[in-house]
Amino acid sequence: MNLTTFDPRQHVPAPQEFTGRVIMVTGAGSGLGRAVALALAAAGAEVILLGRTVRKLESVHAEIAALGGPEASIVPLDLERALAADYEAVAAAVEKRYGRLDGLLHNAGLLGALTPIEQYDVPTFMRVMHVNVTAAFVLTQHLLPLLRASADATVLFTSSAVGKRGRAYWGAYSISKFAVEGFTQVLAHELEGSTSVRVNVIDPGKVRTAMRRQAYPSEAAETLPTPESLTAPYLALLGPASRGVTGQRFSAQQA
Ligand code: NDP
Repeated sequence: MNLTTFDPRQHVPAPQEFTGRVIMVTGAGSGLGRAVALALAAAGAEVILLGRTVRKLESVHAEIAALGGPEASIVPLDLERALAADYEAVAAAVEKRYGRLDGLLHNAGLLGALTPIEQYDVPTFMRVMHVNVTAAFVLTQHLLPLLRASADATVLFTSSAVGKRGRAYWGAYSISKFAVEGFTQVLAHELEGSTSVRVNVIDPGKVRTAMRRQAYPSEAAETLPTPESLTAPYLALLGPASRGVTGQRFSAQQA
């Protein structure tokens, strides 16, 4: 692979590119997580749908069945409240059903408040850091043995423009995305050379989802790309196309 020419935005998913691969998506019930889960299943993946709202996960599960994809699994988990035993149960269930994990997309995220640091509510700060950073750390730690059991595993984190350059009033969200970018680098460095697990981070750009609407309520949503139009770079980074690429940051859209 020529790393200088690898651009996940140019990826054209092949019909059965993910056949035989088991991929977990967090926050799979809506927005980008839902769209990527559906695209993965359409490309043949066995998808594990993790999220907090069971009704939404069931709906994605049904959509995957309707498109004829391999049967998905549902893992209800509230990342704000999950305890050690819950993570142990998730790892045990994945081990029992699949014996390994070939990909993990950390997509679930919390926006929190858009407020000056001086007024930022401390419990909200803690919740955002917990869901966006700590929960991703604990989940990764519990699933690493299963990722190591794969011949070709990927971990993909989700950042944001404000995870690369801080912006006034973006508070805990911006700080948490900086942490996610650091986490990507630390984990990639640890696993490089000694395992087949690669670790990268994607910035989706502006996308027409509930979170974007929460951040920009008066924006004309129809001017933004849909989650469905941005799944190709995710598939590139979660599947065989990115073999040999680790510790890198990518954008899903042109700058
Ligand atoms: P959505 O709000 O549609 O999706 C966020 C997902 O995270 C939802 O499925 C939500 O579940 C889940 N989630 C939130 N809190 C928890 C929790 N405590 N436990 C489990 N799951 C949880 O927004 P997006 O699709 O836009 O966001 C996806 C990712 O993309 C996020 O990491 C976000 O930061 C990032 N991003 C998005 C951008 C955009 O413009 N949309 C720009 C840059 C980054 P539920 O539906 O049950 O609430």
